[in-house]
Amino acid sequence: MADNQQPSSQSERKCKSCGDVKPLDEFAPVYAKNSRGQNYRQHTCLICHRIKAAAKERRLRGNDPQRYRDALKRWRDRTLDERKAVKKTRYEKHKAQVFAAYGGFICTCCGETEPTMLTIDHKLEDGAEFRRNNRGERWSYNFYAWIIRNGFPPDLQVLCYNCNLSKHRNGGICAHKLREGSTTIP
Ligand SMILES: [Zn+2]
Ligand SMILES: [Zn+2]
Ligand SMILES: [Zn+2]
Repeated sequence: MADNQQPSSQSERKCKSCGDVKPLDEFAPVYAKNSRGQNYRQHTCLICHRIKAAAKERRLRGNDPQRYRDALKRWRDRTLDERKAVKKTRYEKHKAQVFAAYGGFICTCCGETEPTMLTIDHKLEDGAEFRRNNRGERWSYNFYAWIIRNGFPPDLQVLCYNCNLSKHRNGGICAHKLREGSTTIP
């Protein structure tokens, strides 16, 4: 007992790796055939075991990176549809949340209510600058999430694509407003 440094108590064991004395259930059971039905446990605690397993994983990955790349590709292919669906659901949820915060699915300028024709517009025509300042984001997908994360900035509004484009081409004022003779930015 003394020479293999196991404590006398059967409910505890000293980890061969870190040397800590821990309850037996912090050591993984051994499932070897000839130990079936008996409570044999490993001599390395679960935490040390995990650290060692991670190191081994890194070593194997370093030895054969291509194998891991192939495995990753297989996983990507296998779960593609599922991951797309999750993304789409999250995107739709964020989109609904953002439009609700900016007055719902209705163009601030012309009153268009068809959701597929509506977009979030930078009131001050500073979208390009905004994107420059936030490089690295994938805006097509992340703009709504960004808006939520940043507490719904007040310089955004709901516009339809027509008004958005017209406003863009007329230096910040939609042709609708120009026609009305109004000079205020919608
Ligand atoms: Zn340990
Ligand atoms: Zn409009
Ligand atoms: Zn308009």
